[in-house]
Amino acid sequence: MHDTRAWARQWLQTPRNLYIDGGWRSASGARTLATVDPADQSTLTTYGVANEVDVEAAAAAARRASRAGDWPRMARRDRGKLLQRIAAVIRDHADELATLESLDNGKLLRESVEDDLPESADVFDYYAGWVDKHYGETCPVGHGFINYTVHEPVGACGLIVPWNFPLLMACWKLAMALACGNTVVIKPSEHTPLSLSRLFELLDERVALPPGVVNLVLGDGETGAAIARSPRLDKVAFTGSTRTGRAVLAGAAASNLKRVSLELGGKSPNILFADLPDRDAAVARVYAALFSHKGEKCSEPTRLLVQRPLYDNVVAELAAMAEAAVCGHPFAPTSQQGPQCHRAHFESVMRYVELGRAEGRLVAGGVADTRGENANGLFVRPTIFADVDNSARVAQEEIFGPVLVITPFEDEDEAVRLANETSYGLAAGLYTADVSRAHRVASRLDAGMVFVNRYGCYDFASPFGGFKQSGHGKELGRHSLAEFTRTKSIWIAL
Ligand code: NDP
Repeated sequence: MHDTRAWARQWLQTPRNLYIDGGWRSASGARTLATVDPADQSTLTTYGVANEVDVEAAAAAARRASRAGDWPRMARRDRGKLLQRIAAVIRDHADELATLESLDNGKLLRESVEDDLPESADVFDYYAGWVDKHYGETCPVGHGFINYTVHEPVGACGLIVPWNFPLLMACWKLAMALACGNTVVIKPSEHTPLSLSRLFELLDERVALPPGVVNLVLGDGETGAAIARSPRLDKVAFTGSTRTGRAVLAGAAASNLKRVSLELGGKSPNILFADLPDRDAAVARVYAALFSHKGEKCSEPTRLLVQRPLYDNVVAELAAMAEAAVCGHPFAPTSQQGPQCHRAHFESVMRYVELGRAEGRLVAGGVADTRGENANGLFVRPTIFADVDNSARVAQEEIFGPVLVITPFEDEDEAVRLANETSYGLAAGLYTADVSRAHRVASRLDAGMVFVNRYGCYDFASPFGGFKQSGHGKELGRHSLAEFTRTKSIWIAL
C-alpha cells in the first residue's frame, strides 16, 4: 500500500475535462464546480459542468458507436480481452486510484486499497468471462415454425454513480454494460469525480476501446437530469438516493421511456436472536458492517434488533467500541474512521444525530469530532441510540452515516414485523443457531439480500439489489445480464 499523495498533488494541477467520442474536451457552458478534501475542506480541483449540449454530444457518440464501427462487429472474445485489459490497468495503477479515492471521498486509504480497488479490477475479469455465455434459446412453438431468442445489447446506456464508492460503483456498471456489448455515458458524483477521471485517462492511454464506446461527463444534478432525459440513450442505470431515483424515473418517462434500473437507499435491519452461535463475533461484525466506510453504505445494517436477554450487554459492548474508535485523517494508519464525504451530507448526518437525542437514548458519540488535526474536517463520532421506537424518524429514514439505532424485541414474530416495517427493502441480517428459524425468518424478510450469521456477504456471482423503495433491477451475477440486454424473438416459417 503506497500513499501517492505527492503524485496526486501534481496530477490535480491539470484541470479535469469531459471525455467524449475518444477525446478530451472542456464543458461547453460556464458553470464550474469544486471538489473538496473532506479531511480539511481544502479544494482539490475545479472542473466545468457538462450541460445538456455536452450530454447530448456524449449520447450521440455512444449511440453511433453502439450501431456502427468496430464495437458492434467485435468478436465477443476480443471484447472479453478488452475487459481483462481494463482489470490489469486498474491493478497497475491501484495506488494512484486509491489515493485519489481517499482524498476525494474521505474513506480510509486502507479501505480504498483493501476493498474498493481490488473489486474494481476483479469485476472486469468476472464479466469478461460472461461475454460469450449469455445466449438465447429455442422455444417449443407449433408445427411449421422455428422460434428462437437472441440477447442483444440495449444500446447506449447512461450510468449515474454516487459518491460513497465512486470507482467501485462505476466499475460495476461499466463492466456489466460493456460485457453485454453496450456503449456508455457515465457521470460520477459532483463530489467525487477524481478516481473515474483518472481511470478514463488510463483507458484512453492504455486500452484500445473504439471511440464513443465510453464517454465521461462531469457535473451535478443538471448533468444527471440531462442523462435521464436524453432521447439518444436507451437505458439509464442509477445508484443513489430514492429521491433522485424518482427524478431519474420521471425523466426517462417524460422523454423516450428508456429502460431504468435503480439501486437506491436502505434502512436495513439486523436481528440478533438470543440463541446466536458466536456472540462476540456477531457483535464485532455488527460494528464493522455499520461503521466501516464511515457508515456511507446503502446496504449497511443501520437498525439493530436485539432479543431482550442479550439487549443490555450488546448495547453496552457496542457503545464501548464506538467510544474507543479513532476518527482521523484517511491516510493516518491509526485512523479507524474517516470524515463524511461532503459538507451538505455531514450537516444532514448531524441533523439526524440531534433528532436521535430526542427519539432515543444516546449511548455513544452524538457529536462531531473536531479534536486536534480533525478541526477543519467533516468527522462525526460513531453514534449509537438505544431504545429507539421503530416508528422514529431515525429508525425509518436513511442517514447514511455512522449512526446506529437499536431496538429490543421479545420473539420471532415481533422481530420480523419490526424488520419489515420500513419503506426500504435492500438487505437484512439475522443471527441464530437454529437452522429452522434461519430459513423461516429469511423467507419472511422483505429484502433483496438476506445475510444469516454474517452480515454483509458479497460476491460478483450473487445478485445485488433491493425490494420496495430500495429500487429494482439486479446488479452483479448473471441476473444483471438481463438488465443490460434486450431479448429478441425470431420466427422462421418452415
Ligand atoms: P443523489 O441520489 O442525489 O446522488 C446520486 C447520483 O445522482 C449523483 O451522481 C448525483 O449527482 C446524481 N444526481 C443528482 N441529481 C440528479 C438528477 N436530478 N437526475 C439524475 N441524477 C442526479 O445522492 P446525494 O448525494 O444527494 O445523497 C443524498 C442521500 O442519498 C444520502 O444521504 C444517502 O441517504 C443517499 N445515497 C444513497 C446511495 C446508495 O448507494 N444507495 C449513494 C449516495 C447517496 P451529484 O452528486 O453530482 O449531485
